[in-house]
Amino acid sequence: MKAVLSAIISAGGPVTLAELCEHPRLSGSCDKATVYRMLTRLHEKRVLRKIGLHDRSARFVLQHGDHHHDYMVCTECGRIEALDLACPVEALEKEVSKRSGFTGIYHELEFFGRCPACA
Ligand SMILES: [Zn+2]
Ligand SMILES: [Zn+2]
Repeated sequence: MKAVLSAIISAGGPVTLAELCEHPRLSGSCDKATVYRMLTRLHEKRVLRKIGLHDRSARFVLQHGDHHHDYMVCTECGRIEALDLACPVEALEKEVSKRSGFTGIYHELEFFGRCPACA
């Protein structure tokens, strides 16, 4: 589990299962089924965030508390890019929290479309 997390941290961005298995920290000891189970568990615990269209091309990235990115996903090729904008919903989150009384509110925002290469 530690090796998987440290590989994700050192990758520095959203990674696929395949990329993770080729990472120097895991290669040699990588059993895809095992790593996938760990990823799923970490995702359930909200340590990781899962981005993308479907399991085959899903990417995993650390779920940071305050620092997060929102993403754009290409529906053609599955390419994923972090949104180069201040998060558009943080203010809304505060408002939702105030009105609903919910605490620990978070969001996962993904925009879907065709990337320049696929347009
Ligand atoms: Zn594309
Ligand atoms: Zn956001």
